[in-house]
Amino acid sequence: MDTQNRNTDDECDSGANLRASSYYVLRASHRCAQCGASTPVFALAVPPDHESTEGDLELDEDGDCTGLDPGAFHQWLFSPAQWQRIEGPALLSQVGILSAPVMRTLHALAPTVRQNPERNGQWTNFCAHCGTAVWEGALYPTPGQPFCPKDDAAAAQIGVQAVEEPLAAFTAMCWTDGYRNKWPLFKRLGVACSKTD
Ligand SMILES: [Zn+2]
Repeated sequence: MDTQNRNTDDECDSGANLRASSYYVLRASHRCAQCGASTPVFALAVPPDHESTEGDLELDEDGDCTGLDPGAFHQWLFSPAQWQRIEGPALLSQVGILSAPVMRTLHALAPTVRQNPERNGQWTNFCAHCGTAVWEGALYPTPGQPFCPKDDAAAAQIGVQAVEEPLAAFTAMCWTDGYRNKWPLFKRLGVACSKTD
């Protein structure tokens, strides 16, 4: 893969709300609710010191928008991006836009992930056996799910591929280290979370 495209994906950056100098492709196993077979599932994560735009949408634990008022949303949507550095890692969810190099990498590493036209093009896992879309609610939010390991032993089951290339994405939600139940996952990425509260 050539290295000349680092600065040529500005058109993608314009729609992005998250960017990082490197990222992770995570791989786990999931039993398809439709056909019952075990299928690989994938997720994207970014390391500490990634960047995000201000005006994060507030989402509840189920990933539903809790209702930013329309005026504030409009202002956020059309204001110039204000990038801020985020000290912790993040697990990306409800990804709508990916920069072209990331799309190519994902195509190679995660062949069962593609854009879902029934979800406004959201990047989605599909069952390798029956082709049914796998709902993110079955993968991310609840301890014991594929990308919410309960402990180190469960986290060790997750495959981690570090990709040393920049990522730009638009995500409707990020699971940050503010979610304590993601700490075993982030520890798997080599990030110790130990906030005192
Ligand atoms: Zn299936």
